[in-house]
Amino acid sequence: MSRIAYVNGRYLPHRQAAIHVEDRGLQFADSVYEVCEVKDGRLVDEDRHMARLARSLSELRIASPRKPAALGTILREVIRRNRVANGIVYLQVTRGVAPRGHAFPTPAVPPGLVVTARSIDPAEGAARARAGIAVVTTPDNRWDRVDIKTVGLLPNVLAKQKAHESGAFEAWFVDENGFVTEGSSTNAWILTSDGILVTRPAEHGILRGITRGVVIEAAEAEGIAVEERPFSLSEALAAKEAFITASSTIVLPIVTVDGHRIGDGKAGPIATRLRELYHRHAQYGPCRATAVA
Ligand code: PMP
Repeated sequence: MSRIAYVNGRYLPHRQAAIHVEDRGLQFADSVYEVCEVKDGRLVDEDRHMARLARSLSELRIASPRKPAALGTILREVIRRNRVANGIVYLQVTRGVAPRGHAFPTPAVPPGLVVTARSIDPAEGAARARAGIAVVTTPDNRWDRVDIKTVGLLPNVLAKQKAHESGAFEAWFVDENGFVTEGSSTNAWILTSDGILVTRPAEHGILRGITRGVVIEAAEAEGIAVEERPFSLSEALAAKEAFITASSTIVLPIVTVDGHRIGDGKAGPIATRLRELYHRHAQYGPCRATAVA
């Protein structure tokens, strides 16, 4: 079965799905995106993702291509056409197509919209969560607006490549003061020796992860104290547990950072518990095959 993408109003097999050579997403990474989890055929945390998308668009003054409800319809249709029961759906909105020039096009052009989806075997994530993952660190050399979810991800690409070349699953960015900011595509967490969960505040230095927000809720509902404050790499190395969160991975316990064992070197019980609890706190949308405008 060939995969189907939505591109600017049409559902097309990937080999026919194309964007214009002068799309500003291609020319300047002048575009924003979202990745949502699909679980048991249902879109997870749609409202939260749509709210973050609206914020990213407004920070960059890119027009919204559709109302949130219509975007949701397109997301569900791409999920359906690709028969994704478990996996992810990806949406990108670009500022549109215009002759190459750095400033915004005048008059404004319509924004571009691309949606794809792919299946991920849940057994893969489950096995990774049982084993725990390795993380390496790398200097955070990104711009200071990583709270906007843009496709300008070259530092993240290089960081993830470094992780993979080191046999690790993720790279943690460390700022110039020795504090961990976040992973290349995940948020970063530790559990201190006195049982407090710590994650960096969602200011401009990290992406305000949807999973991060839900995990805070889940932890608080379990009576686990959560502190939103920066933590240093040395604090992480001395932590009882560490883990990462993202829509594509949910919660994954960390067993080593830069080759140093975290805790007892096994997947931590609190991280494992939060992974189990996650979907009780997430929001599920309907799974419907709908006609698409
Ligand atoms: N930080 C970065 C840099 C990311 O790319 C992601 C994944 N999109 C996250 C954090 C986690 O965000 P979310 O929980 O919304 O997937």
